[in-house]
Amino acid sequence: MNDLIHHSRIEPLITEMGSQEVKKLINSVLTEVRQSIISGKVTSIALDQIVQSIIDECTLKRRPSLEPVINGTGVILHTNLGRSLLSPAIKDYINRIMFSYSNLEYNLQEKRRGLRYHHVEKVLRELTGAEDVLVVNNNAAAVMLTLDTLVPSKEVIVSRGELVEIGGSFRIPEIITKGGGTLHEVGTTNKTHLSDYQAALNEDTGAILKVHTSNYRIIGFTERPSTAELQQLAEVADIPMINDLGSGLFIDLSKYGLPKEPLIQEAVANSDIVTFSGDKLLGGPQAGIIAGKHSLIEKIKSNQLLRALRVDKLTLAALEATLDLYRNPKRAVREIPTLRMITLEMDELTRCANDLANKLNTVNGLSVKVIPGSSQVGGGSFPGYEIPTALVSVQLPEDYSATRFEQLLRTGPIPIIARLEHDQILLDVRTLQAGDTEIIYNRIAELVK
Ligand SMILES: *Cc1c(COP(=O)(O)O)cnc(C)c1O
Repeated sequence: MNDLIHHSRIEPLITEMGSQEVKKLINSVLTEVRQSIISGKVTSIALDQIVQSIIDECTLKRRPSLEPVINGTGVILHTNLGRSLLSPAIKDYINRIMFSYSNLEYNLQEKRRGLRYHHVEKVLRELTGAEDVLVVNNNAAAVMLTLDTLVPSKEVIVSRGELVEIGGSFRIPEIITKGGGTLHEVGTTNKTHLSDYQAALNEDTGAILKVHTSNYRIIGFTERPSTAELQQLAEVADIPMINDLGSGLFIDLSKYGLPKEPLIQEAVANSDIVTFSGDKLLGGPQAGIIAGKHSLIEKIKSNQLLRALRVDKLTLAALEATLDLYRNPKRAVREIPTLRMITLEMDELTRCANDLANKLNTVNGLSVKVIPGSSQVGGGSFPGYEIPTALVSVQLPEDYSATRFEQLLRTGPIPIIARLEHDQILLDVRTLQAGDTEIIYNRIAELVK
C-alpha cells in the first residue's frame, strides 16, 4: 500500500480525488489481485499492472454521467439527446456570465433590486411583437403557470382534435385539471367549428385554449377555426385566448422548402397569450416563453408559483445571446445549429456523406455506400415531415452482428448513436457536427479489426 500511495503515477490521482478515495480504490484492486492469486487464476503480477488497474478504476469512477454523444440519427431536436445545441457564437457571452457576478437581479442605474426576467424582455418583445413577456423553466411550466393564473376553477374550452400528449406524460387534459380548471371538450377529432366553441361558452368559461398539434397531424376531412377567429370569439366573451404553440419559430422556413409551421409573431398577433419552448425550433436553452397582453402577463408574474418555475442565470444568458442572433435572420439560420441543420442543402449533405463513406471504405471488410433517406426535425415540430438527406450505410463483415455493433458504437468512449435497419448501420450526416467524422472513423476502424 505504501509503495502504491507514493507511486509517481498514483500521486496525481490523490491530488484530484483525495487520499481517502484513492486508498479505497487501491484496497479494492489489491483484494481482487489477492483473490485471483488464491484462486490460481494469476500466478504473478507486476507492480505496473496493479498501478494501471488502479488508474483505470479511477478513470471509470470519474467518468461523468452526463456526457457528449454523436447524433447519427438525423433527428435534429432529439429530446433524449438534449434537443437544441446552443450556437458556438454565444460561447463567450455565456462564459462571461457563468464565472462572474452579474446584475441578475440588480438594477445598476437605480441601485436597487431588479428583476431577472427583465434581461430578455426587450428583445423578446421586439421579436414576438408582444406587449409583455415572461420566461420560465420550460414550456410545460409556461402552460401550467398560465392556466393556474388565468383559469383557476374555471372551464377551459379545447377542441377534441387538440388534446395533445407530449412525451413524458405531459397531457393537456391533465394539466388543465391539475390547475384546478375543468376541461370543456368541443368538436370532434377531425372537425371543430367556430360554432362549437361558441355553443360551449357559459358563465363558468375561463378561457379558450388552442394547442398546436405539434407531434401529430390530422389530415383529410378536417376543419379548425383560425387563431384570429378564436381570439375574436374570446374577446366578445371577455375571456383570454391562450395559444400553446409548443415549438415556436421566428423565421419562416417555407422558403427553404419546409412546410409552414406557425410563426410566433403571427400567433402573438392573434392570441392573448402564446407559450412556446426555448429549446425546440428556437434553438436556445431549455425555457418556456409566455408572450402576450400586458395585463395578463402582469397577473402571471404575480403568481406565487413563478418562484418555483423560475429560470436560472445560465438559461437567461444563453437565451439572451441566442435571441440576439435573430436580429439578423440570415445569421440566425447560419449560426443557430437547429436552424442550420434543418436547412442544410443536399449538396452539402452529400459531400459530408461521401467524405465519411470514403474514409470508412478504407477499413478492411466494410462495404460502405451513400444512400438517400430522410431526416426528421423531431421535438414536436414539423410532425410527419421527412426532410431528404444523405445516409452513410455501413455493411459489416459477415461474421459481425449489426445489433451488437450498434451497441458497441453506443457504449464506446464517445457514444455514437446510429440507426439500425436491415442489418445495416445507418448514419445520417445531417446531425453530425464538426469533428464527428473523424471520431466515427476511428471508432469503427478500432471495432473492425
Ligand atoms: C413540447 C410541447 C410542450 C412542452 O414543452 P417543453 O418545453 O418540453 O416543456 C407543450 N405543448 C406543446 C404543444 C409542445 O409541443
